[in-house]
Amino acid sequence: MSSMISIFRLIEHKHRFKVRELKKLNKKYRRKIIVLSIIIISFILSLVIGWLFNLKFWLIGMIFVVISTFLLGLYYYKIKVYNKGYAKQIPVFTWHRIVTDEMKRTVYSDNQWAHSVTVFEQQMKYLHDHHYRTLSLDEFYDWYTGKRRFRKKTVVITFDDGNADDYYLVLPILKKYKLKATTFIVGYRTEDKSYQPWTPEKRTYITKEMMQKVAKTYPNWQFESHTWDMHKVDKNGKEHLLNLTPRQIALDFKKNSVFGFKYLAYPYGIYNDAIKKELEKNNYRLAFGFRDHEYATRKSKRYQIPRIKINGFSTVETLKEWLNY
Ligand SMILES: [Zn+2]
Repeated sequence: MSSMISIFRLIEHKHRFKVRELKKLNKKYRRKIIVLSIIIISFILSLVIGWLFNLKFWLIGMIFVVISTFLLGLYYYKIKVYNKGYAKQIPVFTWHRIVTDEMKRTVYSDNQWAHSVTVFEQQMKYLHDHHYRTLSLDEFYDWYTGKRRFRKKTVVITFDDGNADDYYLVLPILKKYKLKATTFIVGYRTEDKSYQPWTPEKRTYITKEMMQKVAKTYPNWQFESHTWDMHKVDKNGKEHLLNLTPRQIALDFKKNSVFGFKYLAYPYGIYNDAIKKELEKNNYRLAFGFRDHEYATRKSKRYQIPRIKINGFSTVETLKEWLNY
């Protein structure tokens, strides 16, 4: 009896799977199918009218153009109305290191990559108080591919480099305002053998243990790739990535594959064809640029999604300006 039940369950499961797959397929081609159907229906309609009234060919052609234009116009107008009030573009913001106010006042007063934690909290509070929705990168990807829509007040929060300060200073703020965020980490740094306890003064990085803890306690904060070990410059100040052969880049991706990342932020925003090829090969969904200072749209290139850098000297006013950009 139980085996019968399990067979039924299996059939049901398979059926559900099929329905889901069909729905996906349907969504992908829906627009093309509808446009094609409109054209075919208009064609048949004009033929019928032409036959009924015994019209000449050029007149039938004219009727076809009029009917199809009218129906297509109606269809696109409906889409426009349907998407009214929803985001056509979404800003992806990047912060770098968040430091204590004391550190910002002293060591990092001239540093554009370091933000005072108090200013950062004000910025997050602003997003929260003004009902901005923050997206995970999976949600952003669903929007990008047209699977989901989000209202206009939607943003993506990202951090680069995976500083341990994110864990001690940023995480409590994200939790407090219930915000989603993504940090792009440099893979090899997570297994720092010479690990030292975090202090505000010394720069340390997020460890694997921290990542596992966050996954359990606050999954709204996620980690993605800033490459395994391409985040450095050579003696002449040239980005390391540009000195590497395609094979060396492939090796970097291989080492990083333990994390199963789907998104990547280019170190220093630098990229070339070799790294794009590796992204493709490793099934990365999106890759993020940097300092592009524009909102992401559904037409942005998949491996060149623009991001807006929030400067270390910025205030809550700066963020407001970007939100109304
Ligand atoms: Zn970086």
